[in-house]
Amino acid sequence: PQGVAFSIGVFHLMLSIVQYECASETHTESSSNLYRSLDRNLEPSDDNATLLCKISEKTGCSLCHYRQIRRDLKPFSEGISREDLNRAAKFGVRYQIIQGRVFRQKECMFPFRCSGIEHFLLRLAPKLPDLEFIVNVRDYPQSPVGREKLPVFSFSKVPKNYYDILYPAWTFWEGGPAISIYPRGIGRWDIRSKSLIAESERVPWDAKVDRGFFRGSRTSAERDPLIKLSRRLPELVDAMYTKNQAWKSDRDTLGAPPAAEVSFEDHCKFKFLFNFRGVAASFRFKHLFLCKSLVFHFGPTQSENDWIEFFYPMLKPWKHYIPISQNEVDQLETVIEYFKEHQEVSQSIAERGFEAIQRHLRMKDIQCYWRKLLKSYAALMKFEVQRDRTLYEIKTKTEGSSAG
Ligand code: UDP
Repeated sequence: PQGVAFSIGVFHLMLSIVQYECASETHTESSSNLYRSLDRNLEPSDDNATLLCKISEKTGCSLCHYRQIRRDLKPFSEGISREDLNRAAKFGVRYQIIQGRVFRQKECMFPFRCSGIEHFLLRLAPKLPDLEFIVNVRDYPQSPVGREKLPVFSFSKVPKNYYDILYPAWTFWEGGPAISIYPRGIGRWDIRSKSLIAESERVPWDAKVDRGFFRGSRTSAERDPLIKLSRRLPELVDAMYTKNQAWKSDRDTLGAPPAAEVSFEDHCKFKFLFNFRGVAASFRFKHLFLCKSLVFHFGPTQSENDWIEFFYPMLKPWKHYIPISQNEVDQLETVIEYFKEHQEVSQSIAERGFEAIQRHLRMKDIQCYWRKLLKSYAALMKFEVQRDRTLYEIKTKTEGSSAG
């Protein structure tokens, strides 16, 4: 519009008009509003060093995540009794650690998940006090706020809605999810993270395809708008649904045949990657950062209201990734265009996100979190652990039949 100062917002408005010839008055209006709000959210910020926490000189552990332990244990600050534990027992697998030895109930619904958890427990047990705890190995948390408070460990929750105590998921070591290209599960974070870091070096920002990319199954319909956008504008986003174990027909892949699965490494070819919740938090999130691509995360900006794993709160919206809230979903096209037009901003957020995960989510940090969690939990136990003879000792890897 003539006579109006050419502020950044107006400049963007004009760009939008050129790009979206068919856009209506209201669309361009809302695009420019969105551009303005993105400009505001992306104002130059502190560097990563001030955004992130430190690494302990004494232990070498990242200090980024322990706040989550304090938050999760706060509801149990009056102590955990044997009765509390017995009431929680039906929601998970019972473990005891006694004199450095690990014991577990026989049944574990997903043996490889238990095995992925036990990898860490076996290493830590010799230095832990005696303790007893219940681990939920399902995807979904078990102790909703508003009902009886139960001390049950889960890998993911919406903090505002659940009392569950977060633990680092089995998948850092093993236990799935298994997909056709990773028949034994996506695990071994130590190996995968090295390979992704190498890939991020092999494909630097300028060599990446200037397009969004997503592959995954329809574990939540929140993914649909991106898939639909890709069908309309394949040059902007390449997003397709793959099969999962529940797949029965093309209806489960939103009316199209399932796409072939794509390795995490091949995601790194693209500049813009997308993360969504699935049944609970998706294991995809941490991998995407190591591509050094820009990560868009669908969900509330406050981790309190989002499906999280223990390390999510370290990652700050607008600094390490771009949040897409529910009311921005129908403006996805404009959001992606914005970041295509602001390559420097995109690249620097991508680098910050990469650095956060690379420096603060090492296999060592998973181990450190388990140690701190179990020690802090043990300090709240109001009873002495007596060996339960129905439990058996875990010495090595659990035998199992499924990586799912
Ligand atoms: N996955 C992958 N390539 C694909 C499809 C999925 O690497 O082509 C990974 C994905 O990143 C996630 C896991 O497989 O870590 C399961 O993905 P899915 O979308 O099926 O479920 P989610 O756990 O995200 O709800």
